[in-house]
Formats: sequence, C-alpha cells, structure tokens
Amino acid sequence: MRVVPVPVLHDNYSYLVVDEVEKVAAVVDCAEVEPMLAAAQAEGATITAVLSTHHHYDHVGGNEEIAAKLPVRVYGNADDDGRIPALTDGVREGDTIHVGSLVARPILVPAHTSGHMAYHFEEHRALFTGDTLFAAGCGRLFEGDPAQMMDSLAKLNALPEPTKVYCGHEYTVRNLEFAATLEPKNKAISDKLAWSAARRRDGQPTVPSTIGSERSTNPFLRTRSQELRESIQERFPEVGEQDVEIFAATRRLKDEF
Ligand code: ZN
Ligand code: FE
Repeated sequence: MRVVPVPVLHDNYSYLVVDEVEKVAAVVDCAEVEPMLAAAQAEGATITAVLSTHHHYDHVGGNEEIAAKLPVRVYGNADDDGRIPALTDGVREGDTIHVGSLVARPILVPAHTSGHMAYHFEEHRALFTGDTLFAAGCGRLFEGDPAQMMDSLAKLNALPEPTKVYCGHEYTVRNLEFAATLEPKNKAISDKLAWSAARRRDGQPTVPSTIGSERSTNPFLRTRSQELRESIQERFPEVGEQDVEIFAATRRLKDEF
C-alpha cells in the first residue's frame, strides 16, 4: 500500500491510497478531482473508491464530479446519506471496505460532525482521521460536545503507537504553537514544532504523524499532563479536576488562538 498526500483547496489534504498489487486506488476525501486524477495517473492506478470522512464541503466537494467521470463506489456514514454527495455505500462501524486487496474499517468518531468516520487500514497501520484528530490538534465541535470528542479521540488513541495518522488539514505548526503555550517544558512539542516549521519552509507536508507522536504532543490527548492542567487552571480558575473540564477549556482556548 502506498499513500500519496495531495494538497487541495487552501490547506486540506486528500489522500490517494494505492493498492500496488492490483493497481487500484481509493481517494480519501475528494475535494478536488483533477489533482486526484493526476496523482492516480502518476501511480499508474485506477481510482475505484472514494472514502468520505464527513460531509463538509472541503472533504466531499468533488464527489459528484468524480462519480460522473469514473465508476467509483462512494463510502461514507450511512447516517449521512443526503449529506454526503454521490454516496453509494453507506457504512457503519464494524463494516469492512475492500479496495483491491486492501481492507479498511470505518471507526465512528462523532463530535466535529455527528457522522464523522475515520478509516483504519489495520494491516498497513494507517489511519485517516479527517477533521477529528489533527497533528497536535482536534476538530472544532460543530455537532458534538467535549465529552463526545474525548470519547472519539480515545478510540483512535487506543490504536498501536506506530499507526500512521493522515489528517484532513495542514494545521500542524499552528497547533504546535498552541500546544507549546500550554506545555512550554514539553520537549516533544518544541522538537516537533521546529521540525514541522522546517518542513513547511521546504514546502513539504507534516503528515503523516503517528499515534505515538500524538500521545506526546497533542494537547487534546494530554488532559492528564500536569503541566497542561496547571496552565489551563491558571487561565481558568473555575476549571476543576475532571478531565472533561480540562479538555473543554483547552478546546475553548484553541478556538480563540
Ligand atoms: Zn470539517
Ligand atoms: Fe475540513
């Protein structure tokens, strides 16, 4: 399996997931069609599937066009039928998606949207997280609350540390700048910030991350960090000891960062 990150729109990533054996590919989040066709051609692969993480336009805006051009299956949460354009295969957690010889399983991770799905290629240790888990961040809570986002992130955080994390936006530098304000002594954060800034200066993506890297740098997975808790409680004296309170305050702060 090969994963090709394709920068689209302003700061989105679509991904071409290529089965090198059968020379077929899936697009994860089709926002623009032409760049995906070009990527597939460069890989010598035919696009047979689209995996949509959630219904926002910057993740599904190209679904109708690609479905008109190619005989593709379009996968997304069955409950988002009507919100995900050109959906042919509504899926639920526990289902299996086949792309050539590759196997993906959807993981339901609501809160950014109520039907948000992550896609896990377990055999290849690859996880596509859309706008739920970003490198050093998480999505805004448009259709869920802090407790629900914590539960969703916990499901992803339960995967093995080497699992590669392919997220929906290039927000890494800004996210790490925020993380560093909460944990100025966390060397994993300052090191990754320096690395990410250098990557961006070179015009390179900061994806993929890994679950292991997220555990050590992502404030939304680090509500147990003493340094983070003290930073949050300094700014919000009314915040108590419950993890969900720390998480909610961290999310509120990030909304304004
Ligand atoms: Zn979104
Ligand atoms: Fe998005």
